[in-house]
Amino acid sequence: ARSLDSLNFDNSYARLPEHWFQRRKVQPLKHGHLIAFSPEVARLLDLDPCSINSDQLVSYSEGTAHWPGVDPLAMKYTGHQFGVYNPDLGDGRGLLLGEVVNGRGVRYDLHLKGAGKTAFSRFGDGRAVLRSSIREYLAGEAMSGLGIPTTRALCLFGSEQHTMRNGMEPCAMLLRVSPCHIRFGHFEYFFYSGQHEDLRKLADYCLGRFFPHLTESDQPYRAMYREVLERTARLVASWQAYGFVHGVLNTDNMSLIGETFDYGPYTFLDHYEPHHVANKNDHEARYAFSKQPSIVLWNLAALAQAMLPLVERADLETELDRFDGVYQAHYLERMKARLGLLSVEPSDGQLIKDLESIWREQHIDHNRFLRALTEWQLAGDAQYRELLAFCSRPQALVDWLERYRLRTEEEASSPPIRRQQMRSVNPRFILRNYMAEEAIREAHQGDYRPLQDLLPLLRHPSDQHPGFERYAGPRPEWAEALFLTCSS
Ligand code: AMP
Ligand code: MG
Ligand code: MG
Repeated sequence: ARSLDSLNFDNSYARLPEHWFQRRKVQPLKHGHLIAFSPEVARLLDLDPCSINSDQLVSYSEGTAHWPGVDPLAMKYTGHQFGVYNPDLGDGRGLLLGEVVNGRGVRYDLHLKGAGKTAFSRFGDGRAVLRSSIREYLAGEAMSGLGIPTTRALCLFGSEQHTMRNGMEPCAMLLRVSPCHIRFGHFEYFFYSGQHEDLRKLADYCLGRFFPHLTESDQPYRAMYREVLERTARLVASWQAYGFVHGVLNTDNMSLIGETFDYGPYTFLDHYEPHHVANKNDHEARYAFSKQPSIVLWNLAALAQAMLPLVERADLETELDRFDGVYQAHYLERMKARLGLLSVEPSDGQLIKDLESIWREQHIDHNRFLRALTEWQLAGDAQYRELLAFCSRPQALVDWLERYRLRTEEEASSPPIRRQQMRSVNPRFILRNYMAEEAIREAHQGDYRPLQDLLPLLRHPSDQHPGFERYAGPRPEWAEALFLTCSS
């Protein structure tokens, strides 16, 4: 294990052509201090979590102390925002500090979000507020706890500096860690600006770094596109299975390696609602929950467009046509696992659709429902009543449960084994907006305890967490009026 000052930096992106980015120093915040830290992320970087000195972590990140190997830069990219192409995007408030290669040869970007103005800030102040930084930090931990690909953060720090959002709010920084900060919008930048040699160079860079197993294939660019599409289709299928609404699925928020990326006004559904819109500014409901698969396909088509100089149109269209199959197969797999069904029956898709209809028609919290279903067959009558209590009109569920019971008899696994398997994919704890909201409210008063308390629940969401069972229950009534916007 390494200490902070001996991290193995090797900045491949900084060696790419100068006009792909702007070199920029971090602009420190007033009285930066550590709020949260992820030991698991530290281990990805070969850091010994116990050796970390929090003041050193803050001063290294902010550049007030020299971090050997760090060479911060703001990446240029563009993208489609709400369906409209915007040529003026780029890292407007985040800097790629550098890349760390761990002992297993995995390369991670360290990206500091909220680091001050860059050439791409437009009218923005280059800052991130504590509210949205806490939300992004929690989301990374929650998604990884659910086994859904995501960026995470090594740490979150606060400050005594304020900026204008919903009134004056404290500023913060988040040290985001991911193998990839290349967005669909990186490709769109080179395509729409007519820099097609750079486009090819970018594709070669991505192939070598993220898809080295494809470099020897007959059509490497096409093979890369195909894999991006598959990973992205599987990602959105996982979102749909867990009721996650991203909120701002612009192409500049789409990671090339299929991780959930750039958390804004996201929501985990408190009850199953296909039309749910997470972002109050999304007046046309473009990014509503049920539209996510088709929007992600739209984004993949935008990426295909940008790759036209590299791959034949007909080939890209053939790949795009595969989206629905990959998506459906992965969604079915995720949902079947949640129902404890491992064998294959042709009627499984219908069984799931009928359950979704009950959830939708009766506004059921499907995550809590599935956790209750996990316990049903071994717990007996009381659990049966608990399941029916999710419904205002229970008869539909009575019928469905009977079909489900018969279906589970086709399974080879014993009920205790099935329950074990179902528990692992049906969390007791879901990151609900009210939980983040409570943590934010207290953090604004200087109390980071409620934020800290959430971390074990999110990292191990299927376990029991004595003392925190209230978070496994339904959303409290006060939280119904919560609304989120793009402001971050
Ligand atoms: P987002 O909505 O967070 O995905 O950001 C969209 C674009 O706006 C990106 O180019 C960001 O870098 C930029 N941006 C967002 N907030 C700010 C800010 N406070 N200051 C400068 N640029 C920002
Ligand atoms: Mg973004
Ligand atoms: Mg953002």
